[in-house]
Amino acid sequence: MSHTTEVVKYEKLSNGQFAVTIRCCGNASTDWSHTMAAEVAADPERRAASLAEAKQSCAALHQHALDAEAGLIQEMGKITEHV
Ligand SMILES: [Zn+2]
Repeated sequence: MSHTTEVVKYEKLSNGQFAVTIRCCGNASTDWSHTMAAEVAADPERRAASLAEAKQSCAALHQHALDAEAGLIQEMGKITEHV
């Protein structure tokens, strides 16, 4: 499936470090924290590159989680006999 990501929160950790929360598909269970240096966050190009990478990771993790759930559902109820 396709994923959509957005920054839903930012936080100043110190003068030199900021954190953003990235959310996938509007689902809070996918929230992913990404920290960046203030100098990166302040520079439009570096900020965009940093966020693009983090958003890609967030979307990939959401897909992995969906695949994991789908896979584990298939394991439900399988009886293994041990002799
Ligand atoms: Zn997603």
